Amino acid sequence: MTDRNKKKKGHAIALFSGGLDSALAILLILKQNIEVTALTFLTHFGSEIKDRSSSGSDPYPVSEKFGFKIILGHLGERFIDIVKSPKYGHGKNMNPCVDCHILMLKEARHYMNLVGADFVITGEVIGQRPKSQFRNMLRAVECDSGLEGYLIRPLSAKLLDETIPEKEGLVDRDRLEDINGRSRKRQMELANKFGLEDYPSPAGGCLLTDRSYSNRLKDLFEHTEKVDFNDLNLLRFGRHFRLDEYTKVIVGRREEDNEKIIKYAKKEHLMLEAVGTGSPIVLYISTHGEDKLIDAAAITGRYCDDKAKDEVEISCINEGDGRIIKVAPADPDQYSKYLIR
Ligand code: SF4
Repeated sequence: MTDRNKKKKGHAIALFSGGLDSALAILLILKQNIEVTALTFLTHFGSEIKDRSSSGSDPYPVSEKFGFKIILGHLGERFIDIVKSPKYGHGKNMNPCVDCHILMLKEARHYMNLVGADFVITGEVIGQRPKSQFRNMLRAVECDSGLEGYLIRPLSAKLLDETIPEKEGLVDRDRLEDINGRSRKRQMELANKFGLEDYPSPAGGCLLTDRSYSNRLKDLFEHTEKVDFNDLNLLRFGRHFRLDEYTKVIVGRREEDNEKIIKYAKKEHLMLEAVGTGSPIVLYISTHGEDKLIDAAAITGRYCDDKAKDEVEISCINEGDGRIIKVAPADPDQYSKYLIR
């Protein structure tokens, strides 16, 4: 134990997204002279690839200002299995928020046991979000994560059953909150009181809450037996066309898309590009050989700078082996129906 922590009453493990609610939950506990270690989880579905946290906020500024430790964890493949078939179902899109919380809390419980901490806290607020934060759902999350009696939601604690650390006097229930509902007014007042500035506006959630990303992911799950990280990363970039049950085409929309498509392409994919003119990078992904290669070349022609010409030349490259196909650029009316929206 460090000097700083010598006199602490206890030790809490927090789930910390970097957002306002989880930061306030931590501050409410820190103010009771309890050490907090915050766990920030990454998934393959962070809002942007540079994001470090599950819901896209940088957790470090608050931890540095208020002096608590952050540990980064990754939910990895277990989370992909949960996204496929969550026990508590999906939200509006492919987001399995209830199951996601349970998985994070199970990790927090393991860590709590590992380091001999006393309890776990989250920034959940009763009634703030649909489904995942209904009172009975909070209870189910507590039971399924194995944290019965040891999970405190400091922002709504006074509206929930008393936990063991509260009963035992480790945590003063009177100094916790009774926040309920969607308004963030009380949270903002608390932030002011604690001197918590520059907090991010409420995060919409990870990429799984995005309709278009979710549609691509559903399509990927439906057509791919074993999904890997390159498959998931490719979903973030470009336009995606499902030509048939065996074949998908990804068309870069901008320079960054093109770079990422090249980065995450696999050796079995074909890379297409119009010759001698501005062109997107196009990835041809098929388990049925080259059945749809002419269609993919025509789509490439449709998005290159020479799309008004009668014919364009498209290079097809696979592991450095190249050839040229001549095609008429595709008619948008014909191909837009294949776009995964
Ligand atoms: S939005 Fe839902 S699924 Fe995505 S990280 Fe947050 S809790 Fe998990």
